[in-house]
Amino acid sequence: MSLESMTSNLWSGQGPTTDQVSSDRRTKIIATLGPSSRGPEKIRSLIEAGANVFRLNFSHGSHEEHLAVLKDVRKVSAEMGAWIAILQDLSGPKIRISNVEGDYCPIADGDPIELRFSQDKSNLSNAKAIFVETVNPMTTLKAGHRVLLADGILELTAEKVNTDHVMCRVAKGGRIRSRVGIAFPDSDVDLPATTKKDFADLEWGIANGVDYVAISFVRSAHDINELRKVINAKGSAAGIIAKIERRAALENINEIIDAADGLMVARGDLGLEVPLEQLPMLQKKLIEESNYRGVPVIVATQMMHSMITAIRPTRAEVSDIAAAVMSGADAVMLSDETAIGEHPQECVRYLSRVALAAEQTFEFQEYKLRLRDADSQTVPDAIAYAACAASIKTKAAAIIACTETGNSARLIGKYRPHQPLYGLSRKETALRRMALYWGVRPIFFDSGESHEFEIESSLKVVQARLKLPNGSRAVVTGGRSTKTPGSTSILEVRAMDYL
Ligand code: PGA
Ligand code: MN
Repeated sequence: MSLESMTSNLWSGQGPTTDQVSSDRRTKIIATLGPSSRGPEKIRSLIEAGANVFRLNFSHGSHEEHLAVLKDVRKVSAEMGAWIAILQDLSGPKIRISNVEGDYCPIADGDPIELRFSQDKSNLSNAKAIFVETVNPMTTLKAGHRVLLADGILELTAEKVNTDHVMCRVAKGGRIRSRVGIAFPDSDVDLPATTKKDFADLEWGIANGVDYVAISFVRSAHDINELRKVINAKGSAAGIIAKIERRAALENINEIIDAADGLMVARGDLGLEVPLEQLPMLQKKLIEESNYRGVPVIVATQMMHSMITAIRPTRAEVSDIAAAVMSGADAVMLSDETAIGEHPQECVRYLSRVALAAEQTFEFQEYKLRLRDADSQTVPDAIAYAACAASIKTKAAAIIACTETGNSARLIGKYRPHQPLYGLSRKETALRRMALYWGVRPIFFDSGESHEFEIESSLKVVQARLKLPNGSRAVVTGGRSTKTPGSTSILEVRAMDYL
């Protein structure tokens, strides 16, 4: 896009409405639910603002609390006719501090503070002593080591390792909150990716039909396969998102991308594992690799950090979001911003607008060329590529994927079509899963058994939805046997004449 044409856009008035932004936007938005955003009305307001996926963070809260939230999401999204996915984020072996007296307390620069090991939940941290679960600071730390709290916002320095505590000095103070993460970047801590608690939480997730499960601190494909076994054994349709936040994961990134259904660039913990200045390049690389394989990739953490309290994002945050979108992220995520922030709805609204504006400059053609030789050589992938090419050649008004699992819609999205892309399915699990896929707008429709009927009725549905004049063209993909997953082998270009 030339600077001249951009400039003319700037003077064209007020910009699109929230509804237009939500329906035109391709990048998906994940919002974490928490105390600031629970309850049907707040959930509704986030969906209205543009949220596509809700994240339940299992580092906090009880099963009862999460169940109430999940039920609210299902109920509200059904009322609104929106296909919304639920992402269960398993906490993994994140090292955390105990609850804090009064839920949070300030610690000041230069103050002494003790780190103590405790698995007794009744011990509360305060400005004099912090209790650590999972790892023993006495065996982990040495004098001079750094200790980072809350994704590195607070920093302590270990001064002396005593028999029952480590004496530290506050290098960078602030407020400590209950159960924030604590990291020991100068020591080697190797914990398994999935803990007993995670497996118990996963049982809950499967029983309650979550759409995605995120696995924290993944090290290798093995960690994902272990989870997959449990999911498959229970006949769950949940997809697995690998959170990339450890050096080991970077070393095994290829096998991880192959094993997972999605990737999260978990910048919070990853930024503690690698030199912070390397983070932008790692993010770009992880996005590229995921795009190449057609695996959805989420950019997460501190996207709108200042909006936890402020009513507007900073210039830097807006640029960060736009950079993520322009470099090919399928989705962007809000954490504390919507979970405990003061302006959850405004955050989603801003994120949505910024993403849409960034997409306007997206080099769609270049993307297709870049991915033309992408590694997958399956028939559905070839059909997806051909659908995008055909939609350009025939000036189609829409691309329609008739799909059992949502996979063919995901594969079409991989080639970043310019045309509106619809994923039609009779399966609710597939429709919700598609909520995460770049550019895919899920629509429920029961195709019946016959292929011809499937094509015709899908065209009707989309023509009505887009209010297209008769004679408009659409590219439709589907399978000969309409109900066998993974059998996409048909591509048709049809005129829509159903008005
Ligand atoms: P978390 O994961 O918020 O569960 O820690 C995301 C991240 O580390 O960025
Ligand atoms: Mn993390």
